[in-house]
Amino acid sequence: MNAEEHRALRELVGAYVLGGLSGAERTSVQAHLDGCAACRAEVAELAPVAAALRGVDPDAVAVGTPPPPELGDAILTSVREGARRRDRDRLLRRAGAGLLAAAVLAGVFLLGVQLAPAPSAPPVIAMAVDRVAAGVRAEAGLVRHTWGTELKLTATGLAEGSYTVAFVRSDGSVVPGGTFIGTGANTLNCSLNGALPLEETVEITVTDAGGAVVVDAHAV
Ligand SMILES: [Zn+2]
Repeated sequence: MNAEEHRALRELVGAYVLGGLSGAERTSVQAHLDGCAACRAEVAELAPVAAALRGVDPDAVAVGTPPPPELGDAILTSVREGARRRDRDRLLRRAGAGLLAAAVLAGVFLLGVQLAPAPSAPPVIAMAVDRVAAGVRAEAGLVRHTWGTELKLTATGLAEGSYTVAFVRSDGSVVPGGTFIGTGANTLNCSLNGALPLEETVEITVTDAGGAVVVDAHAV
């Protein structure tokens, strides 16, 4: 096979991967692939693109009017007929550009999935932990919400038993923040919610079942 013949075959590879070749051409490409590692590599490179295109949800990528359902057949027919024409080079250059554009589209689509906006977590505003019971280590932070304030509490050394959280206003009045169970030496990671705006939350207290304050933190 001379270079010109090989180039002609090579240019059919794109249509081959997309399943757009007629019987005879398909057979000749397959036969050639058996003996040509370079063209097999090309097939390996294009196959995932073709597969991605088959898997693309048209609704997810369609901009404006969706293509008519018969467009796929029209393209295949065009590829089949065009491949028989003498100006095969020109056509296949276009087919190549089309495949490239399709690959870019698929890439954009896949990228779009990957970069789909992750819900951005609101910032945690660290509190100053003023007091903890003996053997307790604690960190506290507040998160602003529309519905109130969330306390992010991390603690170790809170013995088994029930604990009560309170959100404290500047005048000393409290809003209940719920209850949790101590995890002993295991680290506790707990979110507790108070019906109090962040600006009005000046202090957080954690009280044990006996009424003793075991963690006391202030907004900074
Ligand atoms: Zn080859």
